[in-house]
Amino acid sequence: MMPFPVIPARLEALRLRYASDDSGALADYIPELAKADPSWFGMSLCTIDGHVYDCGDSDQEFTIQSVSKPFVYALALADNGPTAMLERVGVEPSGKAFNSILLDGTNRPHNPMVNAGAIATVAMVRGVDGRFDRILETLGAFAGRTLSMDDSVYESERETGHQNRAIAHLMRTAGVFDLDVEEVLDVYFRQCSVLVTSRDLAVMAATLANGGRNPVTGRTALPSEAVGDVLSVMFTSGMYDYSGEWAFETGMPAKSGVSGGIAGLIPGQAGLGVFSPLVDDRGNSVRGTQVCQDFSKDLGFHLFRNRTDSLPPIKSVSIGSARHSYRVRSIAETQLLKHHGNRITAFELQGPWTFIAVERLMRRVGELDSGFVILETSRIGSVDEVAGALMNEFADSIAANGGTLILSGTVPTRLTGLSTVTFPTIDEALEWSEERVLSNLSPEGRPGSTVTVADSDLGRGLDADAAEALARAGRMMRIAEGSAVVHEGTAARSMYLVTSGHLTASIGDRRVASFGPGAIFGEMSFLTGARRTATVVADAACRLVEFNDIGALSPEIRERVHRNIAVVIAQRLTVANRTMTDG
Ligand code: GLN
Repeated sequence: MMPFPVIPARLEALRLRYASDDSGALADYIPELAKADPSWFGMSLCTIDGHVYDCGDSDQEFTIQSVSKPFVYALALADNGPTAMLERVGVEPSGKAFNSILLDGTNRPHNPMVNAGAIATVAMVRGVDGRFDRILETLGAFAGRTLSMDDSVYESERETGHQNRAIAHLMRTAGVFDLDVEEVLDVYFRQCSVLVTSRDLAVMAATLANGGRNPVTGRTALPSEAVGDVLSVMFTSGMYDYSGEWAFETGMPAKSGVSGGIAGLIPGQAGLGVFSPLVDDRGNSVRGTQVCQDFSKDLGFHLFRNRTDSLPPIKSVSIGSARHSYRVRSIAETQLLKHHGNRITAFELQGPWTFIAVERLMRRVGELDSGFVILETSRIGSVDEVAGALMNEFADSIAANGGTLILSGTVPTRLTGLSTVTFPTIDEALEWSEERVLSNLSPEGRPGSTVTVADSDLGRGLDADAAEALARAGRMMRIAEGSAVVHEGTAARSMYLVTSGHLTASIGDRRVASFGPGAIFGEMSFLTGARRTATVVADAACRLVEFNDIGALSPEIRERVHRNIAVVIAQRLTVANRTMTDG
């Protein structure tokens, strides 16, 4: 099929909505920046699986300017850790212009997104001579390509950047750093002159959205621990003295630069890059700001709006008295499970596993009276650190209360330590729990490990002689572990009573039922001559009684046996109906 045009059309419509707006002005305090073409307007979106949508002038290069700040802050955080960074650079919105000559009450720059904080951040990057090389390499890792510098913009700013010199000298005097002022500024001016496109900004932002791993190259640009710190300051200070209104309108962490770039993102979803060089009084791209605000509204990007539609963490709850495993059971065992099966509860879990998911699960389990708690975890998307720790404490308190936690399906790494009892399917977990519940009950009513024809469901209501006659009509069989008793698709006219051992029925490679002592199988073919619907294999050495033809028995015995078979079938249908209405 053709690629669907829905999203490209949306992006283009958004861009065209503002393409004719020529308000704002080119930044000219760096003379080279005034040479930009005011009509340039590029826009790109990069998803966290690395697909990029481009429109307009998305391959037009421009100098990154202040959009570099969060990425260099990321590098400095990775070099020094958050505590050392906080000693030198604050995280408070300044409410002042990006180039204010201003420190906070503790003589630190307010935050790393304004010039003062960005210059101090440069001084924190490790590598005396190689500082700029490391910065260029980091920006390239975020963009997913090798970047270069625009020499004329760099020289233009170096010659005219007196306001930044004033800021740097103020910080040097205040002891924010003790390096040579010109050396630090030189790296800062170079950093601002690195050439990027709107596409690069989208990929850089998507890398932050993706926890620090570039979704296009697969390379880690930033350790994931630092991502939250970077996004927090972008959210509160990334748009300078417009940051509050920006957060209110777009709900996206973002960063702008005076050359007209904006990089914004929604964690876990996508990164957005916009470039249009006409900027407002605060140094934010006019079209870029408008497009981002509409984009956030049209595509639901606001972090705090429409965030209540997440999956419920518990997809289904089944109580063992209503939902039984596929184990085919005697009438007596089925009755026992109907009464005592509430000791088992199976939860199918789903979605990202976070604090609030664990809280919900623990509350539900707490309301129940189940000693056997089955968790089917295949649909859990991710488990965060807190959820992993809480789940382990939850598992410990279940064990301390004498309960048993059982896992089924694919178990996320953070949850593998919860229990040593794990099964590939929820059905096997249910069957195991049922066996435990039954064997914890008093022995009466529960068939032992060996069942005779006389005390099986087939022999119900027969006196000793009649039961004896029925047993003689059958053929005793021993089945070795691993061998098949019946084969799917074959014609047959016999049924089996399991007197000891255990067998599993499968259709293809799907397990559909299992049988233990007292179970009867093959009764459908026995009654109707229908072909076998499943293959039955012995899990362990078994003893069976095969019934082929009971025509030689007296009419009374035959009538009773047929009635017994009817009761067995009726009971299975009752269990199946209950499971269906429960499901
Ligand atoms: N290089 C520019 C400066 O320091 C960056 C400022 C900006 O993009 N807001 O003035």
